This record gives sequence, structure tokens and C-alpha cells, in this order.
Amino acid sequence: MNIVVLLGPPGVGKGTQAEIISAKLGIPAISTGQIFRDNVENGTELGVLASGYLDQGEYVPDVVTTSMVSERLDQDDVAEGFLLDGFPRTLSQVSALETLLDDRGWKITAVISLEAPEHIAVEHMTKRAKDSGRSDDKPEVFRKRLDVYHERTEPIVTHYQDRGLLYSVDASGTIPEVSANVFTQLEAAGIGV
Ligand code: ADP
Repeated sequence: MNIVVLLGPPGVGKGTQAEIISAKLGIPAISTGQIFRDNVENGTELGVLASGYLDQGEYVPDVVTTSMVSERLDQDDVAEGFLLDGFPRTLSQVSALETLLDDRGWKITAVISLEAPEHIAVEHMTKRAKDSGRSDDKPEVFRKRLDVYHERTEPIVTHYQDRGLLYSVDASGTIPEVSANVFTQLEAAGIGV
């Protein structure tokens, strides 16, 4: 059972790579950002709660996010492994995930960290903003998301590095170049395609 965590700042191409990895490994990609956006679109209670945070570029509170992930991990399709895209994002989510996995007798196989200079992320966002329709792709909200990432998510990179689970990937190339780098690192982590 392969459990892969995908880390990286906003705009680095996490969602795109998540889809490619998910298709190649035949495991579901669990994207917390996408689940929130679907809920906002469908006007669910969770969506109503989350939308204010998303629009401001802030993180949804940990308890909300964690219980959403917990429910997702109870579905049958994760039995052969899964990819987490955008979770965990805070140190508290890191511990919550550890508990969720321990309870089920599971362990993280690898953490893939997508890394690129900030100007690349800004370029991606600028292109994407035109057709994504994402309310948080406005330049000022995007800036806020980058700041929140540096403050709250970067520390978890160090955490996973200390645990020997971190695999860094240069994410500054084209989509196929980046996914080639991703698969090289997955292989290094013992995950064959
Ligand atoms: P990106 O990584 O490009 O910012 P995401 O789709 O992963 O895009 O996330 C979009 C938004 O969804 C975040 O800015 C945040 O408001 C919310 N979100 C996603 N994942 C989490 C999480 N693990 N914890 C809290 N909020 C989250």
C-alpha cells in the first residue's frame, strides 16, 4: 500500500502532478483544496464554512480539515494506497494525520516536495487565473497564500526531512519534465510504476 504526500507552495503545479501520479499509480488523489471548492460550489454546510477562508487565502481550521480527511480515508477506494495533495499543511495536521494512519495500521511511504523559485509560481498563477475562475487566484490573495505557506507549511518540510521521508523535486520545468523528476524520486522511495 503506497501512501504519498505531495507538498509544495501554491502555484507550483501540485494539482497537475497529483492527477498524473494518481493515474500512473492507480491510486486516488485526495486534494483537500478541491474538496473544499466542490463543497463551496454545492453550497454545503462545509462549503459555507470554508469559503471565507479560501477567499482570504487563509487555511481552513485544522479540526475541520482533519475530520474531512478522516471521513475520506474511510472510503473503500483508499485500500490500495492514496495520494494526499494539500494535506497536511500545518504541524497540527501532521500529528493528526499520524494518528489517523496509526489507527488504521498505515504508514506514509514518501513525501514528495515540489520546489521552484517563487517567480515560477507567480507565472503559473497568472496563467491559471484567467480560466480557473478560482477566487483565490487574484494577485493579492495569491500573495497571502504564499505568505501563509512560508509561515505554516514550510516547517513541515523539515519535519519530514528529519523523519527520512522527504524527496525533493525540481518543479521549475514543463509538466512532463516535472513528472519525470517526480517518478525518479518515487522510484528512489521504492515506488515503482
Ligand atoms: P494551493 O496549494 O495552490 O494554494 P489548494 O487547492 O491546495 O491550492 O488549496 C486552496 C485553499 O484550500 C487553501 O488556500 C486553503 O484555504 C484551503 N485548504 C486546502 N488544503 C487545506 C489544508 N490542509 N488545511 C487548511 N486549509 C486548506
